Amino acid sequence: MEKIDIILVINSGSSSLKFTLYNIETETKLASGLVERIGADNANMVYRKGDGAKEEQLVAAPDHSAALRLVTEALVDPAKGVIKSLDEVDAIGHRVLHGGEIFKSSTLVDADVMAQLKKLVPLGPLHMPPNIGGIEACEKIFPGLPNVAVFDTAFHQTMPKSACHYAIPEEYYQKYGIRKYGFHGTSHHFVTLATAEYLGKKPEDLKIITCHLGNGSSIAAVKYGKVLDTTMGLTPLAGVVMGTRSGDLDPAVVFTLLREGMSVDEVDNLLNKKSGLLGVGGVNSNDMRDIISNAEKGVESAKLALDMWTHRLVFYVGAYYALLGGADAIVFTGGIGENSAAARATLIEQFAAIGCDIDPELNATLRGPCTISKPDSKVTALIIPTDEELMIAKETKAVMSK
Ligand code: AMP
Repeated sequence: MEKIDIILVINSGSSSLKFTLYNIETETKLASGLVERIGADNANMVYRKGDGAKEEQLVAAPDHSAALRLVTEALVDPAKGVIKSLDEVDAIGHRVLHGGEIFKSSTLVDADVMAQLKKLVPLGPLHMPPNIGGIEACEKIFPGLPNVAVFDTAFHQTMPKSACHYAIPEEYYQKYGIRKYGFHGTSHHFVTLATAEYLGKKPEDLKIITCHLGNGSSIAAVKYGKVLDTTMGLTPLAGVVMGTRSGDLDPAVVFTLLREGMSVDEVDNLLNKKSGLLGVGGVNSNDMRDIISNAEKGVESAKLALDMWTHRLVFYVGAYYALLGGADAIVFTGGIGENSAAARATLIEQFAAIGCDIDPELNATLRGPCTISKPDSKVTALIIPTDEELMIAKETKAVMSK
């Protein structure tokens, strides 16, 4: 079998294309960066060789293919490049939002898979077209090179029907695929494996609650390596309070707003882009740092946003503790989970009620991967940094090695 050493990871969004080139044999990041504002006059490219300084420049990137071409030119550039020729790339791994029920694991892309991905567009109308566009651009620029799709939903495909079906008549699931899918699966998967490694155990021996807390946030209950439940739903709007998303609310809020005269798009925009910490905090920011600094200054709306964030998180962690029948570990990851000691500190008192005794001193001072609970805590609290790109590269290698 041919050796798979050099893997390019692509995360193609509506106006951006992020990339990371790995030597997966040594798990070394060779280069990374992104092209942003694709299609606009002021498209910008950020390029970083290894762990070196970031270089930025304005570029002409009218579409994703043009952006990818710029990336490939940088990768083979005699001065800043990291490979001599594009022939050195062995495979490309793509972040794909939605695998529906068709894709329960990462998959080598062929014409059939491409046709199935296109059928999944209604489940992710904003993300799927650019995800598919990224694969098409790679097929053009790297003809014949294998593309592997790694799905945000795949890790959650183990949820039982009792957890992932909504209590509405079955025909809506049959007709439209309406059910809970869950997202951030690549991160929850990475963190599950990394937690097991950190604890010196197998995932099959552990009950874990993984908290991916960033601008988008989700929690998963992972029993013996398989997801039992997760907070996001048909779309990433459900669950905990996020940077700009409301998370859970009574669905009748939507009908009420529609009856009050808002359009579907306006309600969609309100709940996805103008709610959460941004909508409640009153400090014109979705960044947890701004919410916390304003809450500390006594801004009531920022305090309320932080209290709501904590309330919903404790609510789900408590529920997952019960669903799992106890937990070995609660794991923090994502921008907030990894970096905000102050946000984690708001959870200490209530986590103690389920036997997770976080040490305030360790919480305030340590950086992941680390343990922040007291030695005699029944449930261990950990910070485990996530690395979705590395997970995509590993999955790509695993698919290619089959
Ligand atoms: P992510 O979506 O995982 O990249 O997380 C982004 C979010 O992490 C930002 O919006 C911030 O709210 C939060 N964040 C990042 N660094 C810090 C920090 N040092 N302290 C508090 N929050 C942080």
